[in-house]
Amino acid sequence: MTVEHTGGGDLPLGPVDPLVVPRYAGPGTFARLPRLDQVDRCDVAIWGVPFDSGVTYRPGARFGPAAIRAGSRLARGYHPGLDVHPFRDQQVADAGDAGVTPFDLSAAIAQIEAGARGLLADVPHLVTLGGDHTVALPVLRAVHARYGPVGLVHFDAHLDTWDTYFGAAYTHGTPFRRAFEEGLLAPHRCAHVGIRGPLFSPEDLADDAGFGFTIVGAFDYLTRSPADVAADLVARVGDAPVYVSIDVDVMDPAHAPGTGTPEAGGLTSRELLATLRALDGVHLVGADVVEVAPAYDHAELTAIAASNVIYDLLGLFARQGRG
Ligand code: MN
Ligand code: MN
Repeated sequence: MTVEHTGGGDLPLGPVDPLVVPRYAGPGTFARLPRLDQVDRCDVAIWGVPFDSGVTYRPGARFGPAAIRAGSRLARGYHPGLDVHPFRDQQVADAGDAGVTPFDLSAAIAQIEAGARGLLADVPHLVTLGGDHTVALPVLRAVHARYGPVGLVHFDAHLDTWDTYFGAAYTHGTPFRRAFEEGLLAPHRCAHVGIRGPLFSPEDLADDAGFGFTIVGAFDYLTRSPADVAADLVARVGDAPVYVSIDVDVMDPAHAPGTGTPEAGGLTSRELLATLRALDGVHLVGADVVEVAPAYDHAELTAIAASNVIYDLLGLFARQGRG
């Protein structure tokens, strides 16, 4: 335990004190939190999965975890929107990065699943930093092993319920079809948010509905407020354990340019954050933030947006920990 971390004693060990070590210095963990091996117990672990061998367009999300951590240095202790202290009301720690082969998709997926299962044996909740969206499938397998079938709130420009690309069943465009086929999802407790852009055919939508998803399109935000959208999502997932998967391309490229498959007409970061906050009350069990590809980013826009999204997820965990 280093003296610069806030908390300690009866309180969770928090970020490095910014009044002792400036925010641009100190450890490279998420929000300069302690590492998992520095804490006695942990409520939520932040876990990097630097893997992008499942992408169909621009590569580079393997550098996402490092970029998100660098973008998280300004996270302060109190969340006024949710009235919680995400780092003081619960123990949050950084579990580091998974070691994942870039050369064999099946082996990589098995490594990610094993890593997530290992962490979930000791820590109830993971927030996974991608990596491309392929990583959601093995993490969902591990979450399912602990919690059973989950409701899914999936923020993305894309459905990610396609079948195959070039004959490959495991890609960043297919994780939720595989998750449905494997029985990882609670029937009819799933929703996509932010969908837009061209599809291959109308069959894509018919298939998707058959997997039990409902869709809130990006353009629905022209007439509906984030709170209104979130109320539908809360009703949709009901009392199921809920996994939230956030592809940063749900945001408009103006808000999140650093990603592999950008689509015009997306959510603002404010709309995304407002929707997330209004999910307060669902039984959140895990989350991921994926597809940050810093080589296409500017001024850390995407990394900072992703880091704020994670802060809001930690706020939701803190709210439900309060009981
Ligand atoms: Mn996407
Ligand atoms: Mn995706």
